[in-house]
Amino acid sequence: MNLYSLAKKFPNEDMALLHLIKTRWPHGVRCIACDHDRCWLIEAKGKTGKPRKLFQCAECGLQFSATANTLFHDSHLPLTKWFAVLCLMVEGKKGISANQVRRHVPMSYKTAWYVCHRIREAMQEDPSFKVGGPATTVEMDEMYVGGRKRLHGVKAGKNAKAVVLGLAERDGQIHMQRVNRASLENIRETVNTKIDPETPKIVTDGNQLYKGAIPRAKHERGNHAEELKDKNWTRTQTVENAFSLFKRGIVGNYHKLSADHLDRYLGEFCWRYNRRKMQPWLFDMALTNMLNKKPLPYKDLTF
Ligand SMILES: [Zn+2]
Repeated sequence: MNLYSLAKKFPNEDMALLHLIKTRWPHGVRCIACDHDRCWLIEAKGKTGKPRKLFQCAECGLQFSATANTLFHDSHLPLTKWFAVLCLMVEGKKGISANQVRRHVPMSYKTAWYVCHRIREAMQEDPSFKVGGPATTVEMDEMYVGGRKRLHGVKAGKNAKAVVLGLAERDGQIHMQRVNRASLENIRETVNTKIDPETPKIVTDGNQLYKGAIPRAKHERGNHAEELKDKNWTRTQTVENAFSLFKRGIVGNYHKLSADHLDRYLGEFCWRYNRRKMQPWLFDMALTNMLNKKPLPYKDLTF
């Protein structure tokens, strides 16, 4: 969905709210406290005197909004603006910064930043997510992000950078995560928790650390000399392409990316990449996640 079709589909707050309610409760509204299915729509006055549409539970009497207890919780931003930002974030292949967002959808930088982080929270794979499986090949590699220290030498620069381990199933799904350093333990932990144990082949470059972390029978190490003969292809091409797409996104869009939030940015990038063939449904998939996930308080993002 692009911004034009979005504006046509949801020309006002009521249409956006209706879609949100149908997405949250496809079988009818249920009370968020007692799960009762008889809830009445009422008009109440908000703190600022503006009319607000709320539901009232016929059983326990609770009054709640359609966005209560979701990632939209407590937001005063109109839903049509939320939808526009959601649309921009699911469509942008390389991601979009808070500054770019507020140029398209008028709001303060602080609001844009907070809205983007909450949508980003909805664009994360389940913790149980794994790449690979029977009859697949998974590539594994590491990359260094950020922390450029000018005039302090290569070593100082490398120490200030964050290490990201990447996994990519050829023509399939990817996973990237930040680790403290590229150690044997960290690599082994990632192999064990993020690669499906039925994966028959794991391909890496010649780095010795992978040798100790990946079972020998599954492991195929790249040969650098052999790869130099063909500059356009390496064995870990899929994961390297994903890394470079992520880096182009950072350099081009975010300029300065907070290391504290790196995992969330990586998660967002992989979530979108893994759904690259489901483009028409991305908006509703992310919206559903926003409604199924718990609120993300501002203080939890600023530490
Ligand atoms: Zn109730």
